[in-house]
Amino acid sequence: MENKILGLHHITAIAGDAQRNYDFYTKVLGLRMLKKTVNFDDPKTYHFYFGDGVGTPGSILTFFPWPGVKQGENGAGMATGIGYSVPEGSLEFWKERFEKFNVPHNGISKKFGEDVLAFQDPDGLNLELIVPENKDVRRPWETAAVKAKVAIKGFHNVTLTLKDHKATAEILTDVFGYELVGTENNLVRFKTNAVENAAIVDILEDPKAGRGQNAGGTNHHVAFRVKDEETLMAFREKVMQKGLQITEKINRDYFFSLYFREPGGVLFEIATDNPGFATDETVEELGSSLQLPDRYKGARAQIEKALPELKQ
Ligand code: ZN
Repeated sequence: MENKILGLHHITAIAGDAQRNYDFYTKVLGLRMLKKTVNFDDPKTYHFYFGDGVGTPGSILTFFPWPGVKQGENGAGMATGIGYSVPEGSLEFWKERFEKFNVPHNGISKKFGEDVLAFQDPDGLNLELIVPENKDVRRPWETAAVKAKVAIKGFHNVTLTLKDHKATAEILTDVFGYELVGTENNLVRFKTNAVENAAIVDILEDPKAGRGQNAGGTNHHVAFRVKDEETLMAFREKVMQKGLQITEKINRDYFFSLYFREPGGVLFEIATDNPGFATDETVEELGSSLQLPDRYKGARAQIEKALPELKQ
């Protein structure tokens, strides 16, 4: 089988207050907290994963909540927009919900022919709810307040802001197997036919954009999906053949990863489907207690003491 990138795996962003972040994504947006762990490189910081019921790649938004973090700034060389897929007819529900919870949002607009409701999370991260043109049969997580008929199904697209789109486009098309499918104003849309959903990368080309500042309310990296480690390592070769530097394979407990900075400056990750999130807790238990990688297990008491308290 041809080795292809299977759309988005996860997106990682930076938040400030952990409780505020948790409350917004689980209670207002109705996503499931799939995993509560720590930043593997800084165990005094949480790492939260929010997504569907089982942690399907393409549904997962993760955060490092750093209390008191300075506000970042969107700009060139970063992912500046996250689009979630929602069911047809749900945008009015969401608009009312955003009004109820004082979530900053725009009116419903159109992008590439699709209805879009743009909003911001409490840290100022830019998000959109989009009714995709193609049918989305993914099964969402359901809560008492956000039922399946309106619930977020997973990612639709990610938007990268770049001064010039060409070098990044070449990575998307030549290495990842995406195709240019359309342009609208200064937006260029790329899509892969390897998957049905979470298949789109939009590039917002802005030659005058300042360099983005990665801190609170901005995205840290975008992870693309491959099925297994063999495919992951095949992509490592392909990226190196483009003259780019890429890390060794890193074990992130729930997936294996490679990181590289694409020519436009955005930090890209490639991550595997295996082993998934139901490794250290069952599907029913996902996100219910703090999970630590082996190397921090002996320090659980100190780590728990250093982390801010989180009320469910
Ligand atoms: Zn990642």
